[in-house]
Amino acid sequence: MLKGIAASEGIGIGNVLKIEDVSLEYTPKTVTDTESELKRYKEAIEKFCEQTTKQADSLRKGVGAKEAEILEGHIQMIKDPYMSAEIEKLIQSGQCAEASLEQICNMFIDMFSAVDDDVTKQRAADVKDIKNAILGILLGVEEVKISDAPANTVIVAKEVTPSMTAGINKENVVGIITETGSQTSHSAILARALEIPAVLSVENALTSIFAGDTVIVDGSNGDVIISPIKEQIKEYSDKREEFLKEKRELEKFRGKPTVSADGEEYELFCNIGNPKDAVKAMEADGEGVGLFRTEFLFMDRDSIPSEDEQFEAYKQAAIVLKGKGLIVRTLDIGGDKEIAYLGLEKEENPFMGFRAIRYCLKNRDLFKSQIKAILRASAFGDVRIMFPLITAVEELREGKKLVEEAKAELRTANIDFDENIKVGVMTETAAAGVIAHLLAKEADFFSIGTNDLTGYTMAADRGNSNVAYLYSPFQPSVLMMIKRIIECAKQEGIPVGMCGEAAANPMMIPLLISFGLTEFSVSAPSVLKVRKNVSKWTKKQADEIAENVMSFATEQEIVEYLKTVV
Ligand code: PEP
Ligand code: MG
Repeated sequence: MLKGIAASEGIGIGNVLKIEDVSLEYTPKTVTDTESELKRYKEAIEKFCEQTTKQADSLRKGVGAKEAEILEGHIQMIKDPYMSAEIEKLIQSGQCAEASLEQICNMFIDMFSAVDDDVTKQRAADVKDIKNAILGILLGVEEVKISDAPANTVIVAKEVTPSMTAGINKENVVGIITETGSQTSHSAILARALEIPAVLSVENALTSIFAGDTVIVDGSNGDVIISPIKEQIKEYSDKREEFLKEKRELEKFRGKPTVSADGEEYELFCNIGNPKDAVKAMEADGEGVGLFRTEFLFMDRDSIPSEDEQFEAYKQAAIVLKGKGLIVRTLDIGGDKEIAYLGLEKEENPFMGFRAIRYCLKNRDLFKSQIKAILRASAFGDVRIMFPLITAVEELREGKKLVEEAKAELRTANIDFDENIKVGVMTETAAAGVIAHLLAKEADFFSIGTNDLTGYTMAADRGNSNVAYLYSPFQPSVLMMIKRIIECAKQEGIPVGMCGEAAANPMMIPLLISFGLTEFSVSAPSVLKVRKNVSKWTKKQADEIAENVMSFATEQEIVEYLKTVV
């Protein structure tokens, strides 16, 4: 079995069609008639643009407008005035069209590849795709026609470029395996748009897999099985049926409200780490964002992002959400989230140390500039502020005081923001659970962070295998915390969500319905699954389950019971 990156869900079983690079070799030569060489180059560009427009049209019809834009971007790139001027200059100096094109494209490829960012790296792949297509035209070599692939084809290639994808007939191509690419590469995006199972970055795929081989592509787990035995084919065919059935079922929940079986409505939000995730959240049919983990904006860089940079990111997310709720959590660093340039001291016990709101309240300039950035973004949507790791009422008061100071400064500077912005608390510590009745009086909303709440309630680090058996949100103590937090919020009439992983757990959902949660915040791929699970329960059924669950003394009994009813 070969392993790669699971890039497009589903299972494909079929016969291999290998797409090997056609030879684009040539001998560079000097030209004397530079005018006709320039003409030859321009004709090739024209042909490239014509072909690409056709491919984009077919992608638009077969896949979608967004995917077609990738190819339209190729036309814009090659028509870029700087790029074309540089290539033409070389031709005018007497270098042949092939060598001139290659030299300038390679310069861009090297430049883009050197940047440590997936989006820019993808541009390098785009330029390579453009270069090869135009070289092919100049040299008069034909590419292998994917459009002729017979039924049940699994494509094996170094990479699947957007121009190749345009030719894919999704009735015939049942799987894609590539040697390069990541979750965010065009190969992955297009495979997902075409709904073809894909495993990318499979080392030596082209040398280990032979044309005509039968292969299984498990795009959900990143597995590739070459020449499977009969039992494996049966096993994976069953899995494929199940996957397709579940997918059809889930699609019925797209565009629908999130309601329980007796019509109680819930909010179903997503967790995000950057503005691009907000787009994914909307594509996944999320109804808002229940947790924007802003620390990701601070990672993978050498300095603190400025107020303006942060403002742009929050604003972008708010614009994508078009007025839907956007809960922005202030910086949650420390513990397992390190940011080297902040120079945090090494601590004996980082999870109980100087982190999150504790760090922010001691670094007021940084904190206030983040709060101002969030406030400024609130002029563009329903933006809310949430403080992480609250353990004492004073922390909430201090944080709110800073919000008021930031508001006053913005008012003086005549900058717009939402005067009534909601300020909430992430209830994720045992302390917050115990004083939830006090916090609820001063917070505008709660969001339960079960990832940390479980750890802090059980005093068990999930990363420590010796105590991992204790780390479960179904421990009676954690469930009592969750129930209490929800009840305290209800008592004070404030909304209460859950943004920890447990919110998407099918066994947790009836309990949350019974306790009275108002909002679920989950990863984008879980949205439809959670909506389906919520729709299964009436309040009465959920109450019955919760009552039984809360009568058990151990996690094992609780989980065993839930398995029988969910
Ligand atoms: C949590 O603690 O449950 C949570 C959602 O926050 P994070 O995972 O970012 O700590
Ligand atoms: Mg947390």
